[in-house]
Amino acid sequence: MPLRIDFVTIFPSMFEPLLAEGIIARGIKQGLLDVHVWDLRDFATDKHRSTDDEAYGGGPGMVMLAEPVLRCVEAIRAEAAEGGDAAILMTSPQGRVFTQAAARDLASRSWLIFLCGRYEGFDERIREALQPDEISIGDFVVSGGELPAMVIADAVGRMIEGVVGNSVSVEEDSFFRGLLDYPHYTRPEELRGMRVPDVLLSGHHEKIRKWRKEQALRATLRKRPDLLDGAELDEEAQAMLRRIREE
Ligand code: SAH
Repeated sequence: MPLRIDFVTIFPSMFEPLLAEGIIARGIKQGLLDVHVWDLRDFATDKHRSTDDEAYGGGPGMVMLAEPVLRCVEAIRAEAAEGGDAAILMTSPQGRVFTQAAARDLASRSWLIFLCGRYEGFDERIREALQPDEISIGDFVVSGGELPAMVIADAVGRMIEGVVGNSVSVEEDSFFRGLLDYPHYTRPEELRGMRVPDVLLSGHHEKIRKWRKEQALRATLRKRPDLLDGAELDEEAQAMLRRIREE
């Protein structure tokens, strides 16, 4: 069964590039992802197809109407009645902050429904009715949930076995093992006086493996030392880290 992903939005055309090119498009073509984009306006209750209204209590900015969102989620659930239980993900700066671990967890689900907000966000009763998993891409505010939903879907999609051509490359990405990635080089061997480290040209696989492991530790210590507290380090890595710290 492919992972099913539904996006609920007032800007469905924003998703066209996501479905046309790149990792998500590839996953769809391979039958590993089943992606649907829903236009919230189709579920409006008035002839103007409204999806937002002024805030009770006054103040600037509009609020997303609850009824179209609830109707749309009902329609999605009805369409995929056999699809099992969907995780409803409400994009929101107030949600738990998305991480690689969360991406892996979501990739193990069978069905994800993303709610993309706009304006001041959603009528609070959408939270009450759907009890969504509120999810944020970081402690800042962007103007809509479409980009956050695409960011999350991309990170989740590439975790699905087969979507990225080489699963080893996913496992070596930053954060997968709690460390940052090691540095990468490609042709030419020398660029404007800067040389590729000799070890990478040596063809000595064991030396290359060790060098990369040590470089990943060095990068993490230099750029994101906070990650080392949560990283699972094997004995070799612990010994390397002790040595690096002594320098
Ligand atoms: N007034 C709201 C922000 C609304 S921004 C608040 O302060 O909580 C409009 C929409 O953009 C939100 O409903 C959400 O869908 C999306 N959004 C904004 N920042 C986000 C973030 N960091 N992560 C995920 N979604 C975000």
